[in-house]
Amino acid sequence: MPTERAAFAARRDRAAAALGKRGLAALLLSPGSDLAYLSGYRIFGSERLTCLVIDANGRATLVVPTLESPRATAAAPDLVQRTWEETEDPYALVAALVTSRGDVAVADQMWALFTLRLQQALPGRAFSLASVITRELRVRKDAHEREALRAVSASADRAYRRVLECAFAGRPERDVASDLAGLLRQEGHDEVTFTIVASGPNGASPHHATGDRRIEEGDAIVLDFGGTREWYCSDITRTVSVGQPSAEVTKVHDTVRRAQEGGYAAARKGASAESVDAASRGVIDEAGYGKFFIHRTGHGIGLDGHEHPYLVRGNAETLEPGMAFSIEPGIYLPGRFGVRIEDIAIIGDDGVAEPLNNANHGLAIVH
Ligand code: ZN
Ligand code: ZN
Ligand code: ZN
Repeated sequence: MPTERAAFAARRDRAAAALGKRGLAALLLSPGSDLAYLSGYRIFGSERLTCLVIDANGRATLVVPTLESPRATAAAPDLVQRTWEETEDPYALVAALVTSRGDVAVADQMWALFTLRLQQALPGRAFSLASVITRELRVRKDAHEREALRAVSASADRAYRRVLECAFAGRPERDVASDLAGLLRQEGHDEVTFTIVASGPNGASPHHATGDRRIEEGDAIVLDFGGTREWYCSDITRTVSVGQPSAEVTKVHDTVRRAQEGGYAAARKGASAESVDAASRGVIDEAGYGKFFIHRTGHGIGLDGHEHPYLVRGNAETLEPGMAFSIEPGIYLPGRFGVRIEDIAIIGDDGVAEPLNNANHGLAIVH
């Protein structure tokens, strides 16, 4: 998060201006990344309503339960608060803060518990998604955000290099996953969000739930892991081989590696998001594995692990400096093994995709 409060106030001003341009009355943000982006305040979701109300007239007010007021003040001392006691109706408080004319936009991930009550409290106003406003603001990362993404990605790279020294053969996947989580923390992560260790046939499931399977000699293992450092997310995947890989693992890995390089080559300022997907997919199609690449090539990353832009067929959105996203082609052979290579890249001011992950892409041999 930026250290200067002025940066958050400037973001809120941009949000208010965007509301005015769209004829919307207010942005209503419950706990989540939009709220954090516009205020510096991060809080878990709970049944007590916390809601940042940004009116199109530029006024911003945080409606917050009294017991969480000290926490909110510490994180966002410049933010005007309207605290509510346990017996008060926070929805009426929010409604009273919406004074401009027009409809309202609510956080995409606002719980139904809050959304339905707010709809009752604001009759006659249609509800839309806050991302119509916040997506434009968040998709181009500023200097501070780029630095944060660089740091968290470098931290994930270091964790990967160190996990290669761990024992794999004979251990359950979950033990390697817990090694990885510890390494991420030692290397500078504040939180570990996921550690996928998908060994042998489990590698054919891109989001395998790491479990009890004992890793065997000859397994290909997909390692996909990430977390946060100062709120910004990491996400990296490498595929390793326990002992010598089979000829097919080597061939599939080489194909995925070339597909990932193809994605990098296509990712530059002015290119469409879908063209990066097409570039990676083309390499895999060419090698005859097209039907085994069962997901999009990438997703944006920032305060959320998955956010805009999505590198997927049908997304003609153009890439611009400051956009950060994964490039992560994969091939998944059911019942046998899977291979994925994933880096985070960011489009620099020169228009070129800069890799934020720099750990070796080769098929590392582990033991
Ligand atoms: Zn994924
Ligand atoms: Zn990943
Ligand atoms: Zn990813």
